[in-house]
Amino acid sequence: MEILHRLKLRKIKKLLAHKSQNIVIVSHRNPDGDAMGSSVALYNFLGKLGHKVNIVVPNAYPQFLGWMKGVGETLVFEKNKDKCVEVFRNCTILFTLDFNDLSRVREFAEYLLPVNCYKVLIDHHPEPGSFADFSVSDTSVSSTSELVYLFMKAVSKENIDKDIAEAVYVGIMTDTGCFSFNSSKKQTFDVVGELLQKNIDKDKVFGLVYNNYSIDRMRLLGHCLGNRMVYLPEFRSAYIWLTQDDIKRFNFKVGDSEGFVNLPLSVKGVVFSAFFTEREDIVKISLRSKGNFAVNSIAQRFYQGGGHPNAAGGESKVKLTETIETFVNILKEYKQELLDAE
Ligand code: 5GP
Ligand code: MN
Repeated sequence: MEILHRLKLRKIKKLLAHKSQNIVIVSHRNPDGDAMGSSVALYNFLGKLGHKVNIVVPNAYPQFLGWMKGVGETLVFEKNKDKCVEVFRNCTILFTLDFNDLSRVREFAEYLLPVNCYKVLIDHHPEPGSFADFSVSDTSVSSTSELVYLFMKAVSKENIDKDIAEAVYVGIMTDTGCFSFNSSKKQTFDVVGELLQKNIDKDKVFGLVYNNYSIDRMRLLGHCLGNRMVYLPEFRSAYIWLTQDDIKRFNFKVGDSEGFVNLPLSVKGVVFSAFFTEREDIVKISLRSKGNFAVNSIAQRFYQGGGHPNAAGGESKVKLTETIETFVNILKEYKQELLDAE
């Protein structure tokens, strides 16, 4: 509850009790389970309080999140810019969820900054930006969804229903790799206990997220592991790359490669894994690590990105082959740290 005090909760409660607000919830590019889970939970919750609410994300969310109640109302900036700009203009309270800096929504940051409304940041990434009026930012919490749950509980506990609780669970489950990381605090399990009291069906939610893939995605996974994974035991590292041709060949849909970057970490001794996706204009980079080898500093230093110590990302503006060459040079520079990592 400490954290929520920092949110100057009383002021927000007053705002939310006041009248029908025009609320906009925004989350980051390539929205994942936590981004969409926290957004949808808050969307349904604020709707129940009688406000007009919109969720805006820069680009499409993965299909495996499409079953959550209310997610279909999400406005995707890339597809519907005019409508998004209109809701920004009318916004009275803005929630920014699951990202620390407006650069992660650069497509529409320019429309958000001048909007004269209360801005509330809820996030668990390091180094929160200073654009918000109120910030709740705690890197020790499993997920933004957990923080949003605590926020909703403090505002109006009785309005958290089963659908809202399931969306929160999606965020916690996906951002902790099904409770395998970022989930060693009792509070996370206390929250999950409370979600179960709301009658969520956790096994159904797991199935909808993880047993709901297309056959194309399964074949792509086989291709990545069989033909696109390079194992570099001398650096305790591995990387996977995907070309534009691969993307076409396997009928790639947003979210299809979600989680692939984690897989090399299951090889004994590997502490660092990277995943490169060739896009039309850039190469998208995902980094993961085990233990005390921090990848967010690498994302920041080389890839104009950031993230958590064990999960970070960014991009490269040079060709895929060149990006990979540079990456191997980076491994050389970090060799001793990689060998010492535990
Ligand atoms: P992913 O590899 O799943 O795309 O991202 C993992 C984490 O890295 C995200 O939760 C986010 O914290 C961070 N991240 C990914 N891409 C970027 C980026 O382009 N910029 C920044 N600042 N962080 C990123
Ligand atoms: Mn998150």
